[in-house]
Amino acid sequence: MTQNKVTVLYVEDNAENRTLVRRVLEAEGYRMIEADSAVQAFQQIKAHHPQLILMDINMPDVDGYTLTSQIKSLPDSRNIPIIAVTANVMRGDRERSLEAGCDGYIQKPIDIDILTQQMERYLTGNKTNV
Ligand code: MN
Repeated sequence: MTQNKVTVLYVEDNAENRTLVRRVLEAEGYRMIEADSAVQAFQQIKAHHPQLILMDINMPDVDGYTLTSQIKSLPDSRNIPIIAVTANVMRGDRERSLEAGCDGYIQKPIDIDILTQQMERYLTGNKTNV
């Protein structure tokens, strides 16, 4: 199983977080591609058509809320499930993620079990909707 791996895009400006999540996802059998900015995220979506996106909310350029709204406004990418990954613990943050179009929401520090459960949930949901 090399070409049939589920491709997950992780949009995150922090290289350390990208390395950690890559380790987890690859151990779970996923293929991870990454982007550290909105521009790069769109390039990766276009080039690799990921089945799922993990979206850091706090990014210096375009934040994860805005980027999610943009991705969800485009016909080619609107059906890709997006899980927000955020260190924000402010009240209403979860609601804000969902309003922006995120399908799911997890908090940092990332709990590996919650991450993989959420991913499986949205990947399964995606399949049954086809
Ligand atoms: Mn960040």
